[in-house]
Amino acid sequence: MDPQDLPSHVAFPAAAAAPCPACGGSDTHSFYRLQGIPVHSCVLLEDADRAKAFPTGDLELAACAHCGFIFNQLFDPARIDYSEDYVETQGCSGTFRSFLEGTIQGLLKGRECANQLMVEIGCGRGDFLEQLCRAADARGIGIDPSSTAGRVDLRAGRGLSFLQESYSKKHLALDARAIFCRHTLEHLPKVQDLVALVFKHLESRSDNWTFFEVPDSLRILKEGAFWDVYYEHCSYFSEASLGRIFESAGFVIKDLDLVYGRQYLHLLAQPGTCAADQACKDPAQMLQAVQIFRGTCCATIARWHKLLHGHPPGTVALWGSGSKATGFLTTVGNHDRIDCVVDINPDKHGRFVAGTGHEIVAPAALKGRPIRTLIIMNPIYTDEITTDVQALGLNPQVLTL
Ligand SMILES: [Zn+2]
Repeated sequence: MDPQDLPSHVAFPAAAAAPCPACGGSDTHSFYRLQGIPVHSCVLLEDADRAKAFPTGDLELAACAHCGFIFNQLFDPARIDYSEDYVETQGCSGTFRSFLEGTIQGLLKGRECANQLMVEIGCGRGDFLEQLCRAADARGIGIDPSSTAGRVDLRAGRGLSFLQESYSKKHLALDARAIFCRHTLEHLPKVQDLVALVFKHLESRSDNWTFFEVPDSLRILKEGAFWDVYYEHCSYFSEASLGRIFESAGFVIKDLDLVYGRQYLHLLAQPGTCAADQACKDPAQMLQAVQIFRGTCCATIARWHKLLHGHPPGTVALWGSGSKATGFLTTVGNHDRIDCVVDINPDKHGRFVAGTGHEIVAPAALKGRPIRTLIIMNPIYTDEITTDVQALGLNPQVLTL
């Protein structure tokens, strides 16, 4: 796709950018711009008109040459309201539940946590904390301004409670043995503030520990995975930049791995003095990936744009209505070819995707619709979804992002 053929709201600037929010470095450059994208990608609306009129914002990703951190330099936290009614995105999937179980088993291996306090920052509706405390026989406190606890078993482990507020200094009084934070750090513009507060919370004991899970952005850049870039994500990490942020705060990193089909980074750290050979992670890989992103992203947009163009209107369906679907729909163009978005979560059915206003339907609703092609939004669910499609007696062309 020639740059002049890109959807008009997509651009690849090359300009000096704001100072790095992670390390303070001034050698930063912007490289990807999206104009007018929905400020929330997980919020689902009651009708199509409201979904299409949903507030938008602009994104301009910049990379720091010193530490490799990537950030949206146009991000405005005031645009985001985390008390909005989020709908749980993945909990209905067997694949995802197995992933959570495996994660928890790995974290608890060799650690005595019975009756200890586990704190989760950004706990959502509390499924992870519930499973964790049950497996560890521990106490749990979930802290999240959008916490919708009530669907979980508050008696799990030694008991759970939830605080509907943001994690702050006042929570340092909680006697936590471990602090968990999954898919939250990428939503914060000042990432080092949260990591420093967690360090302060845990520093009194060297056997306290913390676990963070964030999306890996090296893959996004290398694959041109434009559907994984959206407004709420203002911070993007690689192993190097994530590790550097924690080491700078005073943590020793015990584990830093790519998991979940290499989509997520898992970091396990404890307070302590960082060994010299751990310090100064090399940002070179990330910076090389930034260099090739224009090419990879143009190629993926062109590929999907062409595929959609080859279909009559209303003959394509997406499967999976999480942020990837919103990112895909709002970036790729040609969305009149897409009839609907399928999701297995009944709470989402009859609601609409912010930005483009596509309806979310149950798998069974595909019957009777003229769908020629089904695009799976996350390749990790391909087997699970293919089985569901076959069980419905349908035979569309099935593609994955
Ligand atoms: Zn930096």
